[in-house]
Amino acid sequence: MAKQEDIFKNVVSHAKEYGFIFPSSEVYDGLSAVYDYAQNGVELKKNIREYWWKSMVQMNENIVGLDAAILMHPTTWKASGHVDAFNDPLIDNKDSKKRYRADVLVEEFAEKINQKAQKEIEKAKARFGDAFNEEEFITTNARVVEYLSKRKEILERLAKGMTDDLQDVKALIEELGIADPETGSKNWTDVKQFNLMFGTKLGASAESAMDLYLRPETAQGIFVNFLNVQKSGRMKVPFGIAQTGKAFRNEIVARQFIFRMREFEQMEMQFFVRPGEEMKWYHHWKDTRLKWHLSLGLGKENYRFHDHEKLAHYANAAADIEFNFPFGFKELEGIHSRTDFDLKAHEEYSGRKLQYFDPELNENYVPYVVETSVGLDRMFLAVFATSLKEETLEDGSTRTVLELPAVLAPTKAAVLPLVKKDGLPEISRKIIEDLKWDFNVAYDEKDAVGRRYRRQDALGTPFCITVDHQTLEDETVTIRHRDTMKQDRVKITELRGIIENEVSMKNWLMKM
Ligand code: ATP
Repeated sequence: MAKQEDIFKNVVSHAKEYGFIFPSSEVYDGLSAVYDYAQNGVELKKNIREYWWKSMVQMNENIVGLDAAILMHPTTWKASGHVDAFNDPLIDNKDSKKRYRADVLVEEFAEKINQKAQKEIEKAKARFGDAFNEEEFITTNARVVEYLSKRKEILERLAKGMTDDLQDVKALIEELGIADPETGSKNWTDVKQFNLMFGTKLGASAESAMDLYLRPETAQGIFVNFLNVQKSGRMKVPFGIAQTGKAFRNEIVARQFIFRMREFEQMEMQFFVRPGEEMKWYHHWKDTRLKWHLSLGLGKENYRFHDHEKLAHYANAAADIEFNFPFGFKELEGIHSRTDFDLKAHEEYSGRKLQYFDPELNENYVPYVVETSVGLDRMFLAVFATSLKEETLEDGSTRTVLELPAVLAPTKAAVLPLVKKDGLPEISRKIIEDLKWDFNVAYDEKDAVGRRYRRQDALGTPFCITVDHQTLEDETVTIRHRDTMKQDRVKITELRGIIENEVSMKNWLMKM
């Protein structure tokens, strides 16, 4: 098995074993691509949400929050384009009865060709050493040129084929001889459009029931409240509205744990600007959002921008922040310059004006919007997977440590009496009583202290505080640091300051 797969498996099993994430309704064998956050997961998730909220809302005078309902008037989704165009092209294999996204099958095929080209490049690099000129090699080596142009041609044909009638995509799949990845069968159905929104009904009786959708994104709740917030908050353009909350998508292929879920949480901010100033703000938010990610210290090399060449009809610029997940670089956050598309559409469908009177320009206009949209669950996966480490210690033993950024750790400190007698548990409890007003702290008296350290390492707890017999004499304890395993002897009265210094959001966000 590939190493990457091993790492990913390890992430999933660690999340379950240590009470971070469980499959939903597991007693009934679970529900595909739906997950529950357990006692530690819920704390980590809450801390990520708060870290985002603080940096977006609390730190910006011109950004305010919102908590719109999941259920919205159904016309919202007509106006936003989701009813007509929020589709994925799906294809079924007639033999295996497995369902796939047709575009993903083609993209994966193209990526395999790309991998072949990359292999040739790597080989040449190793052969020629410092003298290697990659640009020249890519344009002159016959095999690489052929691979790369084939890949380009396939992706171009896919893009062209993604129209209402998906016959060309089916033809492409057949022509390339793409087989069911699980069974190898090439017996495909036609490609069909599949709408990703979950439908539901509002109302008591069948006749009067109204068809609704569970929102597939939180953004529309912000758009339809734009004027309410602007007026009641006396907001002046440029200003932003931020929201975190659940979104639902009936994803066709949902395999990668919490990367692609059917029920997930988004953290979105819509920034309303003067028409013509959107590119300035687009670059500002691209830059600011990347800095936010980098402040967590997961490694600069794990992030990259992917600027969209092919734009959605409503956008005039768009980029993803991609993260190096255990299965490769994938979208973590999207930053989109959405023009005035959404507000104009809601004006048209509602018959209401959604405009702003700009006192400086002395004119009315529909603001342009720059959006930042990050998946909370994807953030969780990025943080969790990157933090999970298997270390070999000097004595040859290994330890599993979850090196979470301390600011996000579910529990900030564990207090451990060395033995269960001589008044040590009582002192430990007193320390907890004092610290728990400010931090999540845990108590643990079971097993040898070394085992307890390892348990806290695996949970990502940044500090272990050990109460021993010397504590009885001089009111000092040892404090052990998770990452370095270094222990210091400190006064009980110093504990709060030491912990605060390492976990405070202020200290972490100041790194932005
Ligand atoms: P993808 O291309 O991966 O399907 P998307 O481009 O459709 O994502 P957006 O509509 O831009 O995603 O949503 C914004 C963010 O919401 C994404 O960057 C991602 O972090 C998160 N997100 C979207 N779909 C899911 C999902 N099914 N499960 C978890 N998070 C998701």
